[in-house]
Amino acid sequence: MNPIVQCPVCREITDPTETGYECANKHTFDAARQGYVNFLLVQKKNSREPGDNRDMIQSRRRFLDRGPYSKLSDVMKSLPVFSAERSREGHATFSMQAAGKDTTSND
Ligand SMILES: [Zn+2]
Repeated sequence: MNPIVQCPVCREITDPTETGYECANKHTFDAARQGYVNFLLVQKKNSREPGDNRDMIQSRRRFLDRGPYSKLSDVMKSLPVFSAERSREGHATFSMQAAGKDTTSND
């Protein structure tokens, strides 16, 4: 099951790839080694060195390891999960999974 992720450039649904996500118009977003995908566009980052440096990553990791968002995370885990799969013909199938139930519909 893959989460529905909309391309921030063209609004198409992205598909997961081996390295991150890609939309039908070939806009690509690579996954970081830490396991997240940054969808912020480089030209919108307003920086000569877009992205996070090592100190920023380590600082964020130390902060998150203290669990400041654990209650929010617990609530989010209890919410329904929406996902999309794309067929070979390019049709998207949307699914919602909640409390062990799986409801599927086609576009
Ligand atoms: Zn796109």
